[in-house]
Amino acid sequence: MKHGEKIAYPVLLIKEHLESLLLQPDLKLHISYDIACILKRHLESSKQESLLEKFSLALPAFHTYAHRPSCQIALGAKYCNQNGMTDGEQCERLWSYLRCFSSITKEMSAANRKDLLTDALYYYGTKKIEKMPMLLCKRLAKAQKQAAESEEHLKKLLDSLPILVSFDDVSCWVEEQRKGVFPETESLPDDAIAWQRQYVHKILYNRQLRQSLMMDNATEETVVKNVSLLRSSEKDLKEFEKLYNIKRRWDLSAEGVKELVCEVIDTERIELVRSLRIMAFERSFLLSLKRKYADGQKLAKSLSSSINKKVLSIEKLLQPFNKKVLYLNSFIPGMREKVIEKRMAFDMDSEMYTQLEIVNVDPRIPICLKVKAVNLYLTWERSLEEITLLDRDAENVIAFILHERQMLQSAIGNLAGTSSYIIGSRSLLYEELSRLTFFCSEDHFLV
Ligand SMILES: [Zn+2]
Repeated sequence: MKHGEKIAYPVLLIKEHLESLLLQPDLKLHISYDIACILKRHLESSKQESLLEKFSLALPAFHTYAHRPSCQIALGAKYCNQNGMTDGEQCERLWSYLRCFSSITKEMSAANRKDLLTDALYYYGTKKIEKMPMLLCKRLAKAQKQAAESEEHLKKLLDSLPILVSFDDVSCWVEEQRKGVFPETESLPDDAIAWQRQYVHKILYNRQLRQSLMMDNATEETVVKNVSLLRSSEKDLKEFEKLYNIKRRWDLSAEGVKELVCEVIDTERIELVRSLRIMAFERSFLLSLKRKYADGQKLAKSLSSSINKKVLSIEKLLQPFNKKVLYLNSFIPGMREKVIEKRMAFDMDSEMYTQLEIVNVDPRIPICLKVKAVNLYLTWERSLEEITLLDRDAENVIAFILHERQMLQSAIGNLAGTSSYIIGSRSLLYEELSRLTFFCSEDHFLV
């Protein structure tokens, strides 16, 4: 590597891995990467979607919280199918083991360092293989316990709900959660009066700028900024009027135009509520995560700061819209547009969101309970997957041991003669064979 962590390196590694997997088509590649979202975006933007389809991507469990809720839901280990209970942090464990060698190898020559690290990694690998049966049994017991517990807790939670909800419904909620973060946006119909709406929008913007210049409390800086904005808005309006042959600027309070203003505001409101819903969902998602940690804990602090940022973004979105609505109500007679209250914007169960019909929301189930049910459902689903994966792993380990044993037995059989060298070699092979026999004995598996 000549440069720092570049996105081209993981892409190259993935391509090499995929090539090596060509001989084993039934194996599926699952990759967990600290910046999986960036890698995914890179592959999408560089037209390598076909590569992306060949493997699954996930964020490692301990790195997830550093990402936005949308990343956590799209790529979080818990949300990825066929991921089992893998946390994707195996490499970190290897780094932590190798860290012990940093002070020893610091003063070594490059060749010696390589030798020592090779020995260390060989030892690490051997120990891993030796511990494999015991590890598989422990993980199986853990997965079975987790599957049973999460199933029981989920059943209890669903029983406590005011309406009948099945596990299948909760699985739909998982999809709903994904949609909540990535709603399918419908584009507005491009009808004949689209330009008129656009024109009204432009006039409104222009008038608001004029009004802001008349404010007494405006600072010098904002006045300068607004004057320049007003100049470009004026130029833009004139060009627009020339294009559509408008002789006289429309009066927004005139009959006919007033209805258009209402339409513009309503369209804007729908768009805004859609964006707000995503943010409100992300906020409630972060809040549900934060509840797991005690106040003052590092993760709780970082989650708190993310929640505060989300709150600020919601307020930032709300402010200009509400300002516009109040302004319109003040100068157009009979205009009674409603502002969006902050309280409503934060509440995922508020009417304005449920009316959106992005998802089939049942108002009788609060969103916090839904998030909890989804969490339990995903834990249950991943635990079941883990059990299946462990079964397959156990089969592979047994096949590996049997193969090794067969190789040793045939090697012993091939060593004929009575020279001390051959007797020595046979004794070493017998030692290895007895180690393997113990390795796959029932006692060892049950440790
Ligand atoms: Zn991310």
